Amino acid sequence: MVLSESSVLIVVDVQNGFTTGGNLAVTNAEQIIPSINRLAQNFDNIVLTQDWHPENHISFAENHTNKKAYDTIQLDYGSQVLWPTHCVQGTQDAEFHPDLNIPKAQLIIRKGFHSHIDSYSAFMEADHKTSTGLAGYLKERNIDSVYIVGIATDFCVAWTAMDAAKLGFKTFVISDATKAIDLQGSLQHAWQEMLAVGVKRVVMKSILHATSDEKSS
Ligand code: ZN
Repeated sequence: MVLSESSVLIVVDVQNGFTTGGNLAVTNAEQIIPSINRLAQNFDNIVLTQDWHPENHISFAENHTNKKAYDTIQLDYGSQVLWPTHCVQGTQDAEFHPDLNIPKAQLIIRKGFHSHIDSYSAFMEADHKTSTGLAGYLKERNIDSVYIVGIATDFCVAWTAMDAAKLGFKTFVISDATKAIDLQGSLQHAWQEMLAVGVKRVVMKSILHATSDEKSS
């Protein structure tokens, strides 16, 4: 049994770059992949996101003089953390992790391809003005509930979830199918911000349980 047709699973950035051996590896992030594969069996609608940067991307520390990774700079659209160069278009680092096994996913949203704007969120780039088109896609398909998993809880997952909630979707983050970077308290801060805009924090068991209840009823 699957969740209703009006729900979508958004799988955020499960890429080589963010897992062990990647250029911006999040500790043990690959451990959530079996859970994500299992959750995916309970959804009809699945969207994958893929961080997809040009080499000259503004979020890369090496593209700024006298800056290093994890410094923060001010840009027109607000503060920006500088990252190690990661997920460059067409590289192995940008490919989906080989353990991710969701062949039925229907849409891949590539984000961060504008050289001068970062995009943590699957919905809106970091300037909060440039849309990725995902909200329109989901609304045209009459999808009103989004369930979010992936990497990293405190950046791309959180920003995706907050935008989804602000755009009027019922929004759930399946917390045990995410992994965080947790830079100077960023994880706790991200949860506070998500909960404040109405994002619901759920665990995988409750989703699997709910779908098996539906099956038996
Ligand atoms: Zn990135």
